[in-house]
Amino acid sequence: MLRVALATPLRRLFDYLPPTEPDPRAPARPGVRVRVPFGRQRLVGVVMATADSSEVPPERLKPVLEVLDPEPVLDPAALTLLNWAADYYHHPVGEVVLGALPKSLRLGAPAGAATERWVLTEAGAVAHAAGEPRRAPKQRALLTLLAGHGASGAAAERLTAELPGWREAARSLLARGLLSSTEALDEPPESTASVRPGAPQLGAEQAQALERLEGALGRYGSFVLHGITGSGKTEVYLRLIERVLAQGQRALVLVPEIGLTPQLVARFSARFDTPMAVLHSGLTDAERLGSWRQAFSGTARIVLGTRSAVFAPVPGLGLIVVDEEHDASFKQHEGALRYSARDLAVLRARHAGVPVVLGSATPSLETLHNVEAGRYERLRLERRAGEARPPTLRLIDLRTSALQSGIATPAVLALERHLAEGGQALVFLNRRGYAPTLLCTGCGWVAPCSECDARLTVHQGAGRLRCHHCGADQKLPDRCPVCGFAVKAVGQGTERVEETLARLFPNEGIARLDRDVVRRRADLEAVVGRVASGEARILVGTQMVTKGHDFPNLTLVVVLNADQGLFSTDFRASERLAQTIVQVAGRAGRASRPGEVLIQTEFPDHPLLGSLLGEGYEGFARTALKERADAHWPPFARLAALRDSARTAEAALAFLREARALARPPREVRLLGPVPAAMARRAGRHHAQLLIESADRARLHAFLEGWLPQLTELKSARAVRWSLDVDPLELF
Ligand code: ADP
Ligand code: ZN
Ligand code: ZN
Repeated sequence: MLRVALATPLRRLFDYLPPTEPDPRAPARPGVRVRVPFGRQRLVGVVMATADSSEVPPERLKPVLEVLDPEPVLDPAALTLLNWAADYYHHPVGEVVLGALPKSLRLGAPAGAATERWVLTEAGAVAHAAGEPRRAPKQRALLTLLAGHGASGAAAERLTAELPGWREAARSLLARGLLSSTEALDEPPESTASVRPGAPQLGAEQAQALERLEGALGRYGSFVLHGITGSGKTEVYLRLIERVLAQGQRALVLVPEIGLTPQLVARFSARFDTPMAVLHSGLTDAERLGSWRQAFSGTARIVLGTRSAVFAPVPGLGLIVVDEEHDASFKQHEGALRYSARDLAVLRARHAGVPVVLGSATPSLETLHNVEAGRYERLRLERRAGEARPPTLRLIDLRTSALQSGIATPAVLALERHLAEGGQALVFLNRRGYAPTLLCTGCGWVAPCSECDARLTVHQGAGRLRCHHCGADQKLPDRCPVCGFAVKAVGQGTERVEETLARLFPNEGIARLDRDVVRRRADLEAVVGRVASGEARILVGTQMVTKGHDFPNLTLVVVLNADQGLFSTDFRASERLAQTIVQVAGRAGRASRPGEVLIQTEFPDHPLLGSLLGEGYEGFARTALKERADAHWPPFARLAALRDSARTAEAALAFLREARALARPPREVRLLGPVPAAMARRAGRHHAQLLIESADRARLHAFLEGWLPQLTELKSARAVRWSLDVDPLELF
């Protein structure tokens, strides 16, 4: 009996009989793909286990049609990880398992080049010696040919070349047991790994961290490489990977957004002369399959990728690195399986018995809590590599400073000074577009999105009004549609800041980096190139600028508005704000020039800014963790969010209310809500959520396990789309 995972929303496996004519070249075993009949369809599934019996009556069991793989595409460790993920995230196991494979493989493409080989059986050797079969010269010729090839037999291709039309003869001989055939994946092309010269001499802290990590290779261990921006974390990964490669093992490196970090790939290839498989969401299906095969066959010695690469096959895995572990993009928060690639990476490392290194200048509070609890070991890099010194941070009080289109006078003066001294400047604002609001000066009308509880953003250059939540896009009106009065753009976006800076600094090259400018990777490289060459000395950008670019000449960072994160309903907002400020600040003073960071705020007395400036990220984290403990928020409690959306607000709430009424949680598990989402209407649908909270993870999961299947049965479920998010990162 084969227990098969199929990509269906049903939370179980499906039993099938082995194929009626088993192919000895491709035995049915756990981890291989099979094609099976399913209702009127034929589906590709993965054998998860074999069993002696089934709950399905024998007459209803069907055999699998075909085994697709000569060797498992998912090894036992991968199956364990996927089973765990399905349980933990309460997601249908079939969707989890099939979702871990590239689309081409889900549709049945071969996992690699395979060679069909034919060999004489013992009976075949006897028959050949006896000069049989006498009446079939072709069959006799085939036996002779194969006898000449010895125990390893001959590849089908070779036989075709040497004995055209051999297949018919082979079929008869096979039926009589005189031949056998195998199909094995080709030996991957021999790959080697060597290190190119040019690595810098490690600093004392780097050397110490490396020594500890090298000593930890060969068994499980979770390490946090907590190093300020520019302290040389990447250099430590490179050295550690060097050791892993030298031991003949392979490394898996996860990064938040590979589209934004061509520099990292370049840095890896500058150091290692070895095949690397790169996996990220920007690949075509064919490219993804190619990368996956390189990883699967072991040809690639380093597998580098974003979130979903945590499921990539890496034979001989020796190390996992998660760079910028605090980054929210490691959490899949929509679509199918809502998993945390960082958390799964730790689990995978544990199953594989290898160390995992979580690197960040601003580790997440979850990770710091794990350090405090002794589960993770922290390694510190507190000094910048080479000559660089950390920047100084200062607040600009917006209540007392004059503003020129959102830029305060002290910031303008600082820009002038740094540019005059030959430096470069980064102006950060986490809002793209020209202005967040279009306002009528006559009647006070504000351009709304018709599908969302949100305003439309002005995109002046494109002459459009756009919704950043649903993508709605319309022409920018020059008159108020209600009263016909003139309209004006209110507030700042990066596009407007760029315009203001161009007016203030007419002789400077100005570059902008946000999702409106950067649609493809080439755009990003063009912008980065302009700044790196010094042609542009002022860079304006959103969150995008915080990641991975190293501009040695950058000496000034201005954060235009830190206040959005200070008073949010989401308990994680302050953590995100602190991380963003520290990461942006880290862009300043990367080489020998000292950096300066100015943060504009209307709340200079806010305790978060106080602790951040006074004691750095550490101080902030201590304060924030205490607040979380007092409020029973993660990491001191576990959360799951049951979310839904419907055509009406009432339907969205009705389902969650019924779900809540159905729940029989144990004392340790609390249900909070349901409430409409903070932005209740998005893209024409009404969203709501019900939170499930507990300090006891096991009880929480036991409760979810029993409760979720019942939700499908609810009548109100038909009017909604619902999903469960375990360990949600964003509370809507
Ligand atoms: P991080 O990943 O912590 O931000 P990087 O590894 O990118 O730091 O290092 C920052 C810069 O310092 C890079 O340009 C890198 O080449 C350089 N660097 C790293 N380690 C050293 C070292 N030991 N000596 C000199 N330069 C170094
Ligand atoms: Zn009006
Ligand atoms: Zn909208």
